[in-house]
Amino acid sequence: MTANTLFYIIIALLIINFLIDKIIDALNAKHYKDDLPQELHDVYDQEEYKKSQRYKATNYRFGIITSTFSLLLTLGFLGLDGFEIVDNLARSITDNPILIALLFFGIIMLGSDLITLPFSYYSTFVIEEKFGFNKTTVKTFVLDKIKGWFMMALIGGGLLTLILWSYQATGPNFWLYAWALVALFTIFMNMFYSKLIVPLFNKQTPLEAGSLMDKISAYAKTVGFKLDKIFVIDGSKRSTKANAYFSGFGNEKRVTLFDTLINDLEDEEIVAVLAHEVGHYKRRHIIFNLFASILLTGVMLYILSLFISNPLLSHALGVKTASFHIGLIAFALLYSPISEITGLGMNMLSRAFEYEADNYAKTTYKAEPLISALKKLSKNSLSNLTPHPAYVFMHYSHPTLLQRIKNLRT
Ligand SMILES: [Zn+2]
Repeated sequence: MTANTLFYIIIALLIINFLIDKIIDALNAKHYKDDLPQELHDVYDQEEYKKSQRYKATNYRFGIITSTFSLLLTLGFLGLDGFEIVDNLARSITDNPILIALLFFGIIMLGSDLITLPFSYYSTFVIEEKFGFNKTTVKTFVLDKIKGWFMMALIGGGLLTLILWSYQATGPNFWLYAWALVALFTIFMNMFYSKLIVPLFNKQTPLEAGSLMDKISAYAKTVGFKLDKIFVIDGSKRSTKANAYFSGFGNEKRVTLFDTLINDLEDEEIVAVLAHEVGHYKRRHIIFNLFASILLTGVMLYILSLFISNPLLSHALGVKTASFHIGLIAFALLYSPISEITGLGMNMLSRAFEYEADNYAKTTYKAEPLISALKKLSKNSLSNLTPHPAYVFMHYSHPTLLQRIKNLRT
């Protein structure tokens, strides 16, 4: 195969992926105005339903603009040998291969983030604002960006350095060392994310003693679950949308509730949401997901190790001096169909897990408060109640509200 053929394969993959996405988005958009099924009539009133349809349509149009823009940007960058230009720039600053790679990715990431900045600004301060979700101030927005870059440089740069270093030190077997490093990092992050990363962006306070805490403790006791770390996070700093999640395992396991969730839901509904989260833990979904993602990373690193030393990868992107970092980009583009498929598999699994967690909440607590909680959460985020099945199959990590209600009532 020639570098030229590989170049056209990459272009074709980018375009096919874009087209599939747009077709499924369009199918989904056709159903924005569907009549609501009986079970969902009480989610929205007439006015709010109209509003949710406008929200979906606005985001759909915005999505077409941003994804077309980024496709054209990527194609333009490839066509104009952008990678060669950035690579030469990095090489003009240093001779150290690790520093070259760090500079290269730094320029690419920062550049693309700055170019797409107007879109994220518009999404937050125009679209989310117009529909009453936005609570982010310009100051928070700017600080979030800066902290995000800082984190990216520290964590992304650190991991990249370790991987490049293991490639230089061990050659073709580098994937084993890189895999061990990434696995350790993933487990570490899973355990300490809430302690180390979240505080940079949000305030977390332990849930205060009171009637809600009593109800939660009473439930936790019935299922023999040690639930002593419940934190309330100031999600209202950025958005009115609400959420709850479980993180860590062993002694580090904790539940995080958005303050917006506590404001929107009744105590019983919050306990039901927690029961669902406990279900994820008890059914070992958290550990399973962790190991599945580590396994998939291993497979990917192994395949990467088979191709990375082939200069064809770099040449396909128009870069004359073959290197690990350019090969990595070409590989990522070529690997995208495989990662799409594994992503679909993970989504399917995640939807099955959601049913299991719902069933756990139903049998150990109650179904009805969970149903009303899910309805309120859907209403408050103006979510789409009638998504197209193909869209659900591709993108949903959770079953639809209707599917979950039906399952909870059987
Ligand atoms: Zn869940």
